[in-house]
Amino acid sequence: MKPISFAFNQISDNIFTGGLEILSLRVIYKIMEVLIADEYGFCFGVERAVEMVEEALAEGDTVRTLGPLIHNDQEMGRLATHGVSTINAPVQIQRGETAVIRAHGVTPQVEAELREKASKVVDATCPFVTKVQKLASRAAAQDRHVVVVGNPDHPEMIGVFGYAPKHSFIVRDVAEVAALPRLKNPLVVSQTTIKLQNFYDVAEAVKAKADGETQVVNTICSATRDRQDAARSLAGEVDAFYIIGGRHSSNSRKLLAVCQEQCEKSFLIETEDEINVEDLRGARKVGLTAGASTPNWLIEKIGKRLEEIGIGLDNEMAVT
Ligand code: SF4
Repeated sequence: MKPISFAFNQISDNIFTGGLEILSLRVIYKIMEVLIADEYGFCFGVERAVEMVEEALAEGDTVRTLGPLIHNDQEMGRLATHGVSTINAPVQIQRGETAVIRAHGVTPQVEAELREKASKVVDATCPFVTKVQKLASRAAAQDRHVVVVGNPDHPEMIGVFGYAPKHSFIVRDVAEVAALPRLKNPLVVSQTTIKLQNFYDVAEAVKAKADGETQVVNTICSATRDRQDAARSLAGEVDAFYIIGGRHSSNSRKLLAVCQEQCEKSFLIETEDEINVEDLRGARKVGLTAGASTPNWLIEKIGKRLEEIGIGLDNEMAVT
């Protein structure tokens, strides 16, 4: 983890005693150090999607994203001030507008509809998701079954399913494999954000149902796990932990749960206004991390606010 404030602060002042000026150096050790986790904030796919939207804006496009681009109200608000708006279905796009496919991806049918209606389509599907779509599509073309481990209601899974609708099954866990028919040379892939152990457990269960060879391709992206591992290793060292992220962002909520395991004073916040100074009184080390949809500008703003609070608390200590 990286400190974002200095470990200590020195304050010197003059003390007058009985007409005699005695120069004294008073050393105040800064009691609050802010440490940021080794991995935090925007993942590769989200950062790329935001950059692609910004490029389209720079070209003067009227940008409309199919579904919210990311799960962060503050970043969505910032993009809205640049004219970016959200649509819920391809039918809402107009000629003259640019449609953006977000990092989760969409089905080939939805993409085709957007291409037909919009003047331009910016495909910001994360390359890690594109890989899953391509694997599913190729296996279906070979008339093999595809088992995708994930949440069937998640937009990423709906998109992947669309690449092999007649050959795919989406299962959450081993228990759901029991309901599957015999599987022909199955391919097993995963939603990018699921737990590794669950994936391998399902893969083993699929092998027992397979006729022919089972191909297992781990398509889990490490971004979520890396952020959780980094938060976990910092959480045991700090007295309070702030996780910056949307309350409706599942990866931010998971980060909160990870931090709470070791640090009781862990808080999920969306803005600096939610920091309660009383929670920080007496804290020597404060941890900071952010979900994969949290922009850097917001993390910097909140880091700065924590530093200001730390200096305020030091000054309070200094007045003796
Ligand atoms: Fe891509 Fe991974 Fe980010 Fe999902 S979490 S958008 S797969 S980098």
